[in-house]
Amino acid sequence: MDCLFCKIIAGEIPSAKVYEDEFVFAFKDIQPIAPVHYLFVPKPHICCAKKITAENSGSVAKIFEAIAKVAEDEGLESYRVINNCGEDAGQSVMHLHFHLLAGKKMGWGEQSLG
Ligand code: AMP
Ligand code: ZN
Repeated sequence: MDCLFCKIIAGEIPSAKVYEDEFVFAFKDIQPIAPVHYLFVPKPHICCAKKITAENSGSVAKIFEAIAKVAEDEGLESYRVINNCGEDAGQSVMHLHFHLLAGKKMGWGEQSLG
């Protein structure tokens, strides 16, 4: 499958890994928008949040467990988790991923994420 994040998980494309377990892979975003900007992806290919089902939602739970671990290890008191689903929401890679953002004061509202 021609999927950038599947290739990163497989090690075919290099990444700055920050966490890995049986279900989850996490790495630094190549174009960070905050001092801490990591991407958490499920190892099984799921295209987007629309395709989360009772059968595969376990990977999503594992992602949130991994985020809590990484945040604890790195002493992140405050952070934001974002999933973009679909083109208008800004999803550019069609493999489900959650952005972990931290290290700066973040606003709220349409203009706050860019
Ligand atoms: P989204 O726009 O929500 O689909 O997020 C995709 C993210 O993947 C963007 O923030 C990109 O900067 C990031 N990205 C794209 N290619 C790479 C890569 N090779 N390594 C790390 N992050 C990447
Ligand atoms: Zn994939």
